[in-house]
Amino acid sequence: DKELRLDKFLADMGKGTRSALKEAVRKGRVRVNGEVIKKADIKVRIPGDTVTLDGEEVAYAVMEYYMLNKPQGVVSATEDKKYPTVLDLIADKKRKDLFPVGRLDLDTEGLLLITNDGDLAHRLLSPKKHVDKVYYARCRGTVREGAAEEFARGIHLPDGLLCLPAELTVLSYDRIQDESEIRLRIREGKFHQVKRMMEAVGCPVFFLKRLSMGPLVLDENLKPGEYRPLTDTEREWLE
Ligand code: URA
Repeated sequence: DKELRLDKFLADMGKGTRSALKEAVRKGRVRVNGEVIKKADIKVRIPGDTVTLDGEEVAYAVMEYYMLNKPQGVVSATEDKKYPTVLDLIADKKRKDLFPVGRLDLDTEGLLLITNDGDLAHRLLSPKKHVDKVYYARCRGTVREGAAEEFARGIHLPDGLLCLPAELTVLSYDRIQDESEIRLRIREGKFHQVKRMMEAVGCPVFFLKRLSMGPLVLDENLKPGEYRPLTDTEREWLE
């Protein structure tokens, strides 16, 4: 059993954002054990108390969190006509409510969080929160002198997009293959962002892997396609 704030319980069950739910509570749309409750910060006992929103019972579902090392060739979606999805990799498919938090391209590998916690997804993806994402990439050519400073100021992509400041580290350059290994820390997640940023400095990416997202770091023991539940500590970080 546990005790949760009423608005947090409703948000965890995917009923909306914390602020929208506080408003719903204030307006008397929520009942606990049949009684209208207008304070969002009261504690509800789960399981035990019966909570309704607009007369409908809010069923309690256990929150699940998995860290997946997404392999290439798998889409970050719950359904796809052409390719397997990341959910096809989660062996225990009793749950129908899991989804990936954000997206990685079809050919991108690495850290992807899979959960049924809509509130967490909202918090991690909100542009206002600026959750850092760190990527490792291999790209063609050599990263020009001054590229890290340009990224740190925030570069303009040729298509006009202005990127927020980002941290570029060149890890190595292979003279024979004319290839570079880089690490890039960004705080936004625009469509193909890393690929577009590297392309803009003349280094097209041919291998991309996400290493971390906020405090969550990809477990090195997970091979592409493998996953594990988050530890209690990791879950606390995301609270
Ligand atoms: N940037 C990209 O270009 N692709 C991804 O999958 C993630 C970040």
